[in-house]
Amino acid sequence: MYQPRLETLPREELEKLQLKRLRRTLRHIMENNATYALRFEGLAPEDLKDLSDLKKLPFITKDELREAYPFKLACAPKEDFVRFHMSSGTTGTPVINPYTRADVEQWAEIMARCLSAATLTHKDVLQITPGFGLFNGGFGFHYGAERIGCFVVPIGPGRTLMQLKFIKDFGTTALAAISSYPLRLIEVAKAEGFDLSQTRLRVGIFGAEVWSDETRKFIERELGIETFDIIGMTETGGVGLGIDCVAHDGIHVWEDHYLIEIVDPETGESLPDGEEGELVVTTLTREGLPLVRYRTRDITRIISRGRCVCGRTMARLARIKGRTDDMLKVKGVNFYPRQIEEILMSHPEILPDYLIRIGKKEGKDFIEILVESRTLDESLKRRLEEEIYNYLGFRAEVVLLPKGKIPRREGKAVRVEKLEKK
Ligand SMILES: [Zn+2]
Repeated sequence: MYQPRLETLPREELEKLQLKRLRRTLRHIMENNATYALRFEGLAPEDLKDLSDLKKLPFITKDELREAYPFKLACAPKEDFVRFHMSSGTTGTPVINPYTRADVEQWAEIMARCLSAATLTHKDVLQITPGFGLFNGGFGFHYGAERIGCFVVPIGPGRTLMQLKFIKDFGTTALAAISSYPLRLIEVAKAEGFDLSQTRLRVGIFGAEVWSDETRKFIERELGIETFDIIGMTETGGVGLGIDCVAHDGIHVWEDHYLIEIVDPETGESLPDGEEGELVVTTLTREGLPLVRYRTRDITRIISRGRCVCGRTMARLARIKGRTDDMLKVKGVNFYPRQIEEILMSHPEILPDYLIRIGKKEGKDFIEILVESRTLDESLKRRLEEEIYNYLGFRAEVVLLPKGKIPRREGKAVRVEKLEKK
């Protein structure tokens, strides 16, 4: 464990700390952002007598964070920000999370705990394949690794041949990636005759996408590694909200930094432990963008708040099952059909009927956009694919079709088709 005392705090002590930090977070918001403070009008931090009083506070949604672009809900003076990360939005407006110096330190701390939970020590070589940029993955792993003293291979995404070469040449023992990437690695290794059993790889830390237990088993078998499921999102301060431990009996959430609740996604009512619903997160130690009752839209349940066999007392969540709404996620990127539509329809040659087909092909995310067009020009197809990549951050296959080729239906148009290709 990276911080054994904190990670094994008796629940009573942990809850005391949570209440103290919850009050401090409210005070921090009230003192730093009058607009944000309006949400809690008539309430003083001291009015929260115990954690169940959290229910008196309103939820905050991703749409509200997006509307706050760029800094309307930020809770520190601009000169205290050292950087921001962002997540994609519905209309091209992203959610911005500005980090103070203390936020970066908080992130490093929770990531160091995650890496330690995944058995990493200073003797490990961690190859970081998420990007080092606006999205949060790469930096999060990097900060955590620095804390525990791993040797970092900060390669970032893509360049799979180089990834394989580095795994071999630098003796990589642990791989950090979005959960579909190992599949690509396995595929390329096979095609290149690269023997994955002859590497020092022993651990994979994967997340950012919902990945099934079946895929997980496949990856573990093919790479000969133990995998750890890591969660976290830009809104809450990036990757590292929690991770499973060697017991693999749920994802430990760092509860001294985050308060978690499960609510009914329809009514917002709190659900008892064990029941499946939407994960709601309150940050307890963030400065730049503290969140009170953030509706994550992730569907999960609390497995236990009791002590795990690993010794940690931090609550455990079931692996994320999916999202509450129609948001689509491909190759680690969240998006809405409407964003695709906006890109398509900005071209006069394109007709309004389209169909997004998504699914899994050989275990990997697959997206195809069928669209009717006045011209079936190859250059238009390429341009659309390039725009989708530039605006949304993933590669999609665009198929141009003559008018009338996409089946019409009565009532609401079907814009998304989910395929289960094997
Ligand atoms: Zn555990």
